[in-house]
Amino acid sequence: MLEIRPTCENCNKALPNNSKEAMICTFECTFCKDCVDTILYNVCSNCGGGFSKRPTRPSHLLEKYPVSAEIIHKPLHKDSFKELLETFKNLTSRER
Ligand SMILES: [Zn+2]
Ligand SMILES: [Zn+2]
Repeated sequence: MLEIRPTCENCNKALPNNSKEAMICTFECTFCKDCVDTILYNVCSNCGGGFSKRPTRPSHLLEKYPVSAEIIHKPLHKDSFKELLETFKNLTSRER
């Protein structure tokens, strides 16, 4: 089941289940759209993959399948990200 994480991993912005800004990679690393567009350039800083909009879980299922409460806040280290960014930023996520 998809983990609906509560915040952006980089800037810690709140990303509730119905957020229009929540983006995820294939491992559910979760960032806000601003960070994805202006800092990560669609390269996940953990795995190098691209991002898609996170789907919203229908509210009638939230009691049975609750969202995650665990905050993951790991601000980007620009130097260590540089290599990953150079490797992947010019490839679409389908080509990585
Ligand atoms: Zn962010
Ligand atoms: Zn990732």
